[in-house]
Amino acid sequence: MRHVIIIGSGPAGYTAAIYAARANLAPLVVASSVEAGGDLMNTTEVENFPGFPDGIQGPDLMAKMQAQAERFGAEVLYDDVVSLELDGPVKKVTLGSGKVEEGVSVIYATGSAYRKLGLEGEDRLSGRGVSWCATCDGFFFRDRTIAVVGGGDSAMEEANFLTKFASKVYVIHRKDSLRASKIMQERAFANPKIEFIWNSAVDEILGDDAVNGVRLRSTVDDSTRELPLDGLFVAIGNDPRTHLVHDKLELTDQGTIWVDGRSSRTSVEGVFAAGDVIDPTYRQAITAAGSGTVAALDVEHFLAARGEAGEPAVAESPIEGLPDAAVV
Ligand code: NDP
Repeated sequence: MRHVIIIGSGPAGYTAAIYAARANLAPLVVASSVEAGGDLMNTTEVENFPGFPDGIQGPDLMAKMQAQAERFGAEVLYDDVVSLELDGPVKKVTLGSGKVEEGVSVIYATGSAYRKLGLEGEDRLSGRGVSWCATCDGFFFRDRTIAVVGGGDSAMEEANFLTKFASKVYVIHRKDSLRASKIMQERAFANPKIEFIWNSAVDEILGDDAVNGVRLRSTVDDSTRELPLDGLFVAIGNDPRTHLVHDKLELTDQGTIWVDGRSSRTSVEGVFAAGDVIDPTYRQAITAAGSGTVAALDVEHFLAARGEAGEPAVAESPIEGLPDAAVV
């Protein structure tokens, strides 16, 4: 039986793993078979994570977090959770391999998933011109004309990144001003390859076997027009990934997992949640990491109260003559 099973391997999951591992709880991290490392694996330069004044590539940051967790004894498993039994003192986590892992506690840190426009052509033409990931698919649009939908930081980041490949990038936004941070807006406005199409919604994605355009509808006067395109990148935000727990844990009106105040305690004893899956507002790598810390500390207290906590790890003192110190 594990002290704690951490589900998710983004900044929240790995930071929880670092803290739990340093507390000698030997956490198991179920990292997913295809999405290990979370959304930052699809990001290029991360410029706002403290400690990296020159920025760091998203995948490099995640590799460092994983290495840090493993250094202290976290076990990372590249598998998916297919079902959960969370009631009662033994939490059962069934994996894609069919194996069932048991834990005294669970930290649920599954992050959020790309939001879809909800249009018929979206799934049909996914991988045929429709994409949610510029860093994954941008390369295929060299010298092409493409569009990004959305007005947030993701859309600005994707649009800027895509200008490395595409000859022209439209940003289609339903309002006349952006939600994105000032610095991201200014970067996009200054990019000569980017053209903004304001007050417009995508009504239809056109093309039989591949995207060849979109039908736009004005959000001001409802008029429509067609825009020829080779590709469409959807960057309209994310929704918390709660499908495994929506009938097991209490959710908020915004669809995130409910937690008790500033803690990570969910509505089920022994189950804790962290990161984007509990956060409808801030959703930054650094806030997710902080949230993972909270979850690991809550787990420590929970286990200690039940007499199940591991012995604190002892670090050798770097100064001769001084006593070794507990690292927790
Ligand atoms: P946001 O929720 O911030 O923005 C989503 C955008 O998509 C909004 O402009 C919204 O429009 C639009 N939108 C939502 N639904 C639809 C729809 N159905 N049709 C058309 N447009 C739609 O999401 P992001 O993914 O951009 O950002 C999420 C978080 O991640 C934010 O906190 C952001 O700051 C952060 N982030 C930070 C980055 C960085 O700092 N480098 C990079 C990427 C993300 P409207 O404005 O009208 O609501």
